[in-house]
Amino acid sequence: MTVETRKALTLVDQFGRVATDLRVSLTDRCNLRCSYCMPPEGLPWLPRQELLTDAEVVRLCRIAVERLGVRQVRLTGGEPLLRPGLVDIVTELATLSPRPELALTTNGIGLARLAGPLRAAGLDRVNVSLDTLRPDRFETLAHRRRLPDVLAGIAAAAEAGMTPVKVNTVLLRDLNEDEAPELLDYALEHGLELRFIEQMPLDAQHGWRRDRMVTADEILAWLSSRHELAPDDRERGSAPAQTWLVDGGPARVGIVASVTRPFCGDCDRTRLTADGQVRSCLFSRDEADLRGGLRGGATDEELAAAWRTAMWGKAPGHAINDPSFLQPSRPMSAIGG
Ligand code: SAM
Ligand code: SF4
Repeated sequence: MTVETRKALTLVDQFGRVATDLRVSLTDRCNLRCSYCMPPEGLPWLPRQELLTDAEVVRLCRIAVERLGVRQVRLTGGEPLLRPGLVDIVTELATLSPRPELALTTNGIGLARLAGPLRAAGLDRVNVSLDTLRPDRFETLAHRRRLPDVLAGIAAAAEAGMTPVKVNTVLLRDLNEDEAPELLDYALEHGLELRFIEQMPLDAQHGWRRDRMVTADEILAWLSSRHELAPDDRERGSAPAQTWLVDGGPARVGIVASVTRPFCGDCDRTRLTADGQVRSCLFSRDEADLRGGLRGGATDEELAAAWRTAMWGKAPGHAINDPSFLQPSRPMSAIGG
């Protein structure tokens, strides 16, 4: 395939990476206040009229799947379960051809009620964020007393058949880092796939400090205090998590070491914010506005072309480790994690 043909059919960038995994933020709002993400008082939310409507979200996803080679659509936020039209959006996305794999990243609050309807609508997989199993720590970390709702949500997702349910954990120094082995025990007991995510400089408060973050090496040390970990020789591909076999397998645990072991060279992501901006990377400092075109009468091909151009300019890496690194102005909750 020539470069020109590849450019016309896929979201290829100038370094040869092809984005097939679309992350769509459905809202910037949230019912938790995880300290590595949002301040306790919340944030000024996007005005409703600036959010893409359900039909606009579905149209852009259709363009991504039909014209740009996207194979997986992950719905996220903010908290995507707060989006009133979520089940209808999943129903529509499940009719796209070729049928994309449909996934959701959620804090789990409300999943006990929604897991069944989401599964019936066509949701294939779910990642639930869970940083602690202790109610007091949950309240310190997320500023809400909602741990039982999260645990009920995880159970309901498994019950609905979205197995293995993945669990995402961020460890914070002197707060929950010592809980890594306990969380792994919980995951093993319930048949969940646990992945630790290194804390990234994406919080609205700009409070991230390199010397305070818990690194992949430290996470491995915590886990090894109770379990035997062996390198997993399964092909990693573009998966962000590096995985290890636990106690001889088949159970695995993963670490997404975006800061200390960056994987930008294998990135296959493209992102759409809740207000219709394409971002080529979590850490991009620029965005391409699709909402303007969408509301101004652009054709599918014009929107696809704008998306391709945005991805062609994707930076080679996030540069967190460069002295000149600048945190993007949008926080994680408004980008879509
Ligand atoms: N509200 C949903 C949730 O918490 O799963 C979806 C959005 S949240 C932004 C997506 C993921 O990003 C969560 O697993 C969360 O733990 C993670 N996250 C948020 N801020 C982060 C940060 N500063 N560094 C690393 N991961 C972060
Ligand atoms: Fe909300 Fe998710 Fe951010 Fe926590 S990480 S405050 S649940 S958006």
